[in-house]
Amino acid sequence: METTIQERLDTINDRIQRACDRVGRDYREVNLVAVSKTHPPAIVSEVSTYGVTVFGESKVQEAKAKIAMCPGHLTWHLVGHLQTNKAHHAVQLFDMIHSVDSLKLLESLAQATDRAGKNIAACIEVNVSGEGSKYGIKEEELPGILEASTQFPHIDLVGLMTIPPWSEETDKTRRYFAKLRALRDRCRDDWNFPLDELSMGMSHDFEIAIEEGATWIRVGSSLFGSRETARPREEKSVPNSKF
Ligand SMILES: *Cc1c(COP(=O)(O)O)cnc(C)c1O
Repeated sequence: METTIQERLDTINDRIQRACDRVGRDYREVNLVAVSKTHPPAIVSEVSTYGVTVFGESKVQEAKAKIAMCPGHLTWHLVGHLQTNKAHHAVQLFDMIHSVDSLKLLESLAQATDRAGKNIAACIEVNVSGEGSKYGIKEEELPGILEASTQFPHIDLVGLMTIPPWSEETDKTRRYFAKLRALRDRCRDDWNFPLDELSMGMSHDFEIAIEEGATWIRVGSSLFGSRETARPREEKSVPNSKF
């Protein structure tokens, strides 16, 4: 069954509200990044008419073309892996980078912000599962990166981000979100580096992430529909079974 953007957004807001209620959190602590990768500017503009202002992209090239064609009041976050040689472009395009996954990248971003005279917010992506295929730093690298970040005047290190391994079993996923929160608490308690933000949770698991403390959820397909159907014509259009 086709649903409208308004209906999908209502459903997402409901899911956020119920997750907050379950753990006694204030709804306003949870921020939404609408992940618009693969979806055209017209859809972004439509979503923005319902009050969504923060959009996420995972590739610099795609974002560059898209952002220029979207309403100017929107804020853009990078949620995907960034190559150091594109740090300069990323700083021009985005206000927040969720996916800083190496000290080298943080240094490149710092240089780019110095040159651009622009501040950006950053989260450090941590590979809490230790899965080899994932981007993200190892936990033990974190104190060094926190320390280094104090040298970078235009980088505002605000939090941690993770993408857990995909699992049907919600309790497996929960363990990784809880781990990221514990690590955020260690930043404050053990390394004297308080961080506010936890970027965790996507379409299929953001309620669990909220229950475990997420302050930014990154939601794509639940809002925009599946990315398969967003591709140009060559595929026949399949009714979206997710809704
Ligand atoms: C695509 C993407 C999302 C959104 O995923 P959905 O499952 O479509 O909600 C969130 N975070 C990152 C890093 C992504 O690349």
